[in-house]
Amino acid sequence: MSVQNPYLRKIYYGLALDPIHVGTGGYRLGEVDLTIVREPGSNLPKIPGSSLAGSARAYTAMATNRYRREKRYDADDQKIRYISCAGKGGEDGSEHCGEIDCPVCTTYGFTIGPQNRSFHGLAQFYDAQILFFPVHSMVGPVWVTSPQVLAEAGYALPPEQELTGDTLRVAAGLGSLEQGLNLGWLFLKVEDGDLDTAAIWSALGLPDDLARIRERLVLVPDHIFPIVVDSNLEVRTSVSIDPATGAAEEGALFTYEAMPRGTVLRFPIVYHNPQHYLFPVREGDETKPVPFPAERDFAWVQGNVEKGLRLMEYLGVGGMSTRGFGRLRVLGLEEGGA
Ligand SMILES: [Zn+2]
Repeated sequence: MSVQNPYLRKIYYGLALDPIHVGTGGYRLGEVDLTIVREPGSNLPKIPGSSLAGSARAYTAMATNRYRREKRYDADDQKIRYISCAGKGGEDGSEHCGEIDCPVCTTYGFTIGPQNRSFHGLAQFYDAQILFFPVHSMVGPVWVTSPQVLAEAGYALPPEQELTGDTLRVAAGLGSLEQGLNLGWLFLKVEDGDLDTAAIWSALGLPDDLARIRERLVLVPDHIFPIVVDSNLEVRTSVSIDPATGAAEEGALFTYEAMPRGTVLRFPIVYHNPQHYLFPVREGDETKPVPFPAERDFAWVQGNVEKGLRLMEYLGVGGMSTRGFGRLRVLGLEEGGA
């Protein structure tokens, strides 16, 4: 990789191993209490880049032994602090180490308020969008996508594959469905001619891990896709437990929604070239801009991030992980790492 390249963009695909709930933070009285974050406009659920970056940061810190570090005495305000490069670094950011060789602070950035010192981070996370959405049908589970969803991912549907109305086009693996196919409660006719999933897989560079989905893919019209997603989100009711008594809190039933297990998401991460940046190194009371060592390249930044992404399969992303939510298997990670 040449030093001239300012950045490297890599597309990742993730498979939800649990339902995933990334909440809006609001509490709504209505059909669903705990709603999930959605894309304005399409109204489709998503995982915001900031949530991915927050989880990845914590897991990179765990994988590189920077999650809970030594105590440090701060002469500035005469306080003893625990240094952790995960999280937000405390109220004023001063719990981040901010060292030039830290795989967390360089990759995800930091702002240490009292020192007036910050670095924006060498990895930039974008939202994870739904690519394939799992739905129950009369022939078992199928995964749904739409022309617009495929186009945004980089695959333009050829004219002969287009839908002629409120119809479906299905992968050859689903066999002949002359009567049509139901997606939950919705029943639609099936077009002649199989969905060319080989072309989709090759154009998007989809990993072989998703081969089972490739045999069960269904194309729906763009205006129907959000309806199918919305009516097949996981909606569950739960109780709040009073931590003091271990009993259910009275009147504390609440309903939440989540993207179901089996959802396939797509997200880009942009890696910046360390050789194009100066890092604000602290020397005594002074801050000095210093270039990164010559061996710091894209691969280093990508490796730091992927150590974190690898742990999402075990530790999850989003809320309610103690209730068995959030595990996301990120596919296509380079070998090695944590
Ligand atoms: Zn650090």
